[in-house]
Amino acid sequence: SKARQNQIKRTKTVCTYCGVGCSFEVWTKGRKILKVEPKPESPANGILTCVKGKFGWDFVNSPDRITKPLIREGDHFREASWKEAIHLIANKMKEIKDRYGPDSLGFIASDKMSNEEAYLLQKLARAVIGTNNVDNSSRYCQSPATVGLWRTVGIGGDSGTIKDIEMADLILIVGHNTTESHPVVGSKVKRAQKIRGAKIAVIDVRKHEIADRADLFIRPKPGTDSAILAGVVKYIIDNDWVDREFLKRVNNYDEFKDSIKGFTLDYVESVTGVPREQIVKLAEMIHGARNVVALWGMGVTQHLGGADTSTIISDLLLVTGNYGRAGTGAFPMRGHNNVQGVSDFGCLPNYMVGYQKMEESVMSKFEDAWRTTLNRKPGLQIPQMIEGVLDGKIHMLYIVGEDTVMVDCGTPLTRKALENVDFLVVQDMFMTETAKLADVILPVAASLEKDGTFVNTERRIQRFYKAMEPLGEAKPDWEIIQALANALGANWNYRHPSEIMEEISRLTPVFAGVVYSRLEGFNSLVWPVNEDGSDTPLLYVNSFATEDGKATLYPLEWKPRTLKDEVHSIIVNTGRVLEHFHGGTMTGRVEGLRRKFPETFVEISKEMAQKYSIMNGDLISVKSKFGGEIRARALISERVMGDEIFIPLFSSEPSKGINNLTGQEFDRASGTPGYKDTPVVIEKITSG
Ligand code: SF4
Repeated sequence: SKARQNQIKRTKTVCTYCGVGCSFEVWTKGRKILKVEPKPESPANGILTCVKGKFGWDFVNSPDRITKPLIREGDHFREASWKEAIHLIANKMKEIKDRYGPDSLGFIASDKMSNEEAYLLQKLARAVIGTNNVDNSSRYCQSPATVGLWRTVGIGGDSGTIKDIEMADLILIVGHNTTESHPVVGSKVKRAQKIRGAKIAVIDVRKHEIADRADLFIRPKPGTDSAILAGVVKYIIDNDWVDREFLKRVNNYDEFKDSIKGFTLDYVESVTGVPREQIVKLAEMIHGARNVVALWGMGVTQHLGGADTSTIISDLLLVTGNYGRAGTGAFPMRGHNNVQGVSDFGCLPNYMVGYQKMEESVMSKFEDAWRTTLNRKPGLQIPQMIEGVLDGKIHMLYIVGEDTVMVDCGTPLTRKALENVDFLVVQDMFMTETAKLADVILPVAASLEKDGTFVNTERRIQRFYKAMEPLGEAKPDWEIIQALANALGANWNYRHPSEIMEEISRLTPVFAGVVYSRLEGFNSLVWPVNEDGSDTPLLYVNSFATEDGKATLYPLEWKPRTLKDEVHSIIVNTGRVLEHFHGGTMTGRVEGLRRKFPETFVEISKEMAQKYSIMNGDLISVKSKFGGEIRARALISERVMGDEIFIPLFSSEPSKGINNLTGQEFDRASGTPGYKDTPVVIEKITSG
């Protein structure tokens, strides 16, 4: 009614952008977003937010939103009813499954889906279609960190909460632009330094703002962080600064020690370009601090050795006894608001929900609950699905809220695959580059338009509430997936996401006590959650999440390697900027953010500017060893050094997207592309 439209409504929500998981109340009047008000009771952020959480919501009312299902007809789309669209997709799925088998279909989850939606998507793939080909975009970013933690301590998530970061005496930050990528954590790190005298040590190839404030800043050659850390650990071991008591909880010390014996100060200095004094200084800082936390981001994980570097970070914490106490631990900073949750809730090709192994007892439990027979063969990861299309093995892709063309490595190849797949379904709010290639596009609700839960970087499960109705005919992902499952013969009757969560908690030990009644308002639960509702903000207090309760020191295998050649001698680095989230599908549609940061740029060092006679604003061409080219304006800065350049993830137009440059090289342990290992050559085109 009109009266209701004029009323101001306050709704608790969780930020849709980064993994800090800030929660706040959003004030709305009808569809109008009046303001965002953080509350002291918000567990992750208190009264803090950043510019995106506070002002980044206009995309919800963007005229670019897709509001009706669209079906391809030749080279354009026509509007269709939900019934027609779902019917068409269900028929195509059946046809392809009958003809080529269930493993010829692939499902890609967005890291912005809710937990309940992620669970339903993998249930659709596994129980209805019969394939484990379901993966999510953490494959592009944080999978290597998960591998590193699985190898050493057992759980692929932050070992504590943001409070532990605030309580540490030493905050070690590796390859992470804390202030721009996770601004609220950035503020807390700075506050810990200012108020409590905590020390900050940063290892990064780019001098981010947090590096300016660091007590120690180490700038290694790209791809050599593992060597620095191994050098630091060896120095600690050689000086007998290890925590002997803690090592009783750890297996494999001797083998690990043996694996790093070559990382002498001489060797580390020679391969990393970092003076030995800095390596010694870092070892001393770690030794001198009672409690140490390590934060890392995509500067570690988007390298070919990302899993190994994540592992050695965890090894370092183990030898110095920095797990299982307040103010200690490992913090791989999750990028998207629900990148943690979408993996936790089962969108992984080789694990069931809650990281249950696909072993007989687990699979038969799910078969009983879902009343079906399940495929035991592990599924494909996203890059393997893309490859599968090109090899003629994958015939249909179902992509939820992911602009795969822009975010997967090697845009030209991904584009070719998606142009050629027999049938492509995209669920999205916007006409992304990927949606443009779809056969059917299904319009989805924004987080403000639905109910559900997300998991932030701390493993914290938080509830978000519906503030307004979905725009036009858009629907929440869970409703769409349920309609499709039922059109394929399933008989799902979920009336609300809370009912999906009830099913999940019955089937998943780590979520045993997760029920909506415990998540009301600003209440939250940090998993694992026991049946009685007690949760686990701090992991590994008494034992590690392994069979014998002990952690494992995982030996390091590392050799210097580079993809550079004589022509392509420059390495491109990439990352976020404060104003935009990744490629800018949402923030690029927020007027204020776009005004502040309208255009992509190529950041180059002073030395390089001199060498190539480039001035600020000159148009330059960047050509990749892998074939692509982008052109953008130069920005000369001290943040980059020597022959390294930086191009933001945000691109103002598709032809400027960073993945036009990246290639098909992957971290062997996790299948994550080596986004930050792209050799290029640059050339000045015109003066600015
Ligand atoms: Fe949102 Fe992250 Fe900013 Fe918090 S820090 S408001 S979660 S983008």
